Amino acid sequence: MTKEELLDKVLSCNRCGSCRGVSQDAVPDPDFSTQCPSGMTLFGAYEPAGLMYIARGLSLGNLKWDQDIANTLYSCTLCGYCEDLCGRGYRHTPAISILEELRRITPENLKPKNLKNSAESIKTKANHKLDILQEYGIPDPSEGSNVNTILFADNSIIANGNKLKEIGFLIQKSGKTIGCFYKDPLPPVDTALLNGGYQNILEECMEEIDTRLDIYGIKRVICYNPESLSVLTRFSNSRVEFISITQLYNEMLKKKPYKKLKLPAVTYQDPCHLGRYAKEYAAPRQVINGLGLTLKEMWRSGHNSLCCGAGGGVLASNPRLAKRYASNRLKEAKATGAKVIVTACPFCNVNFRQSKPKDLKVMDITSLVAQAYGYKGKAVIK
Ligand code: SF4
Ligand code: SF4
Repeated sequence: MTKEELLDKVLSCNRCGSCRGVSQDAVPDPDFSTQCPSGMTLFGAYEPAGLMYIARGLSLGNLKWDQDIANTLYSCTLCGYCEDLCGRGYRHTPAISILEELRRITPENLKPKNLKNSAESIKTKANHKLDILQEYGIPDPSEGSNVNTILFADNSIIANGNKLKEIGFLIQKSGKTIGCFYKDPLPPVDTALLNGGYQNILEECMEEIDTRLDIYGIKRVICYNPESLSVLTRFSNSRVEFISITQLYNEMLKKKPYKKLKLPAVTYQDPCHLGRYAKEYAAPRQVINGLGLTLKEMWRSGHNSLCCGAGGGVLASNPRLAKRYASNRLKEAKATGAKVIVTACPFCNVNFRQSKPKDLKVMDITSLVAQAYGYKGKAVIK
């Protein structure tokens, strides 16, 4: 994107500030009236309108890069609420592409170091444990097996033996033929490359992914991590269908017998990349209901959901800030009276867990489904 193109997009924002808050008229608690995780926790410059003002200054050249500007931009979780809400009105500011572009053009010395490291790890695929999937009879398409659906192994599971066992167990229980490239894993992309502003590396990875999907005739890709789902959906040029693993669970619960769970009432955290980005709001809720659990929705839910605070690389680059963001959401979760918060994203899970909420257990939806099918192994999130 050129400076002129960036400015053109930025000028579609009149900095009205509407996207700082929820769109409903009646708010049950004043703390629930704002929606931008960074703006509500910090101050105006961190709100979308503030960030758009910064973007305008940078693209006009009358604002110069410095560490404060970079820190402000990297405090945004890229949750997508501002763009979503803006598009519901008479304007449509493409806030996410603007914010991602700003990260791309951030001078290298001002970028958070942890995000550089996360981006590097995408290329190495080091120390993966995907061979575990063999124990569950999961074939590798590159070994000549006739597979047209695969599990996408991203960085949240590629070296996480316990989670791979849970997922392998569930795939086996589903009775479906679902493969995984474990001899030579696909680049384990998630949002790390966008968070760090390394779109050029992402393009290379996507080219490799698309080529391999095409060569092996893959038609459907199942993603455990919503961040991978949204990146693959947005940047793949293949005709492959990318779906959330919650859709697989939902299909399974309709066809394969299981035991309903006995748990106190739960609430559900819509992961931004599953809900807002991939528009998958229904499947996780159907899974929760199918498991026999009582769901108590938070006031901000569905497309008005509040980010957990981990996104945009904030969890990696500034975990203390991510924890502050999470506390906003956990307050709302507790207000429902639920005793368990369920999520379908490894990053929401880690961020809520690091916040150690009192009287609220954090559970991964995959672990719950595995329990319902009698999985006895240790369920670990990350
Ligand atoms: S992004 Fe849209 S809603 Fe938000 S401040 Fe700009 S014009 Fe207003
Ligand atoms: S993407 Fe989310 S965190 Fe970033 S400015 Fe928009 S609402 Fe705030």
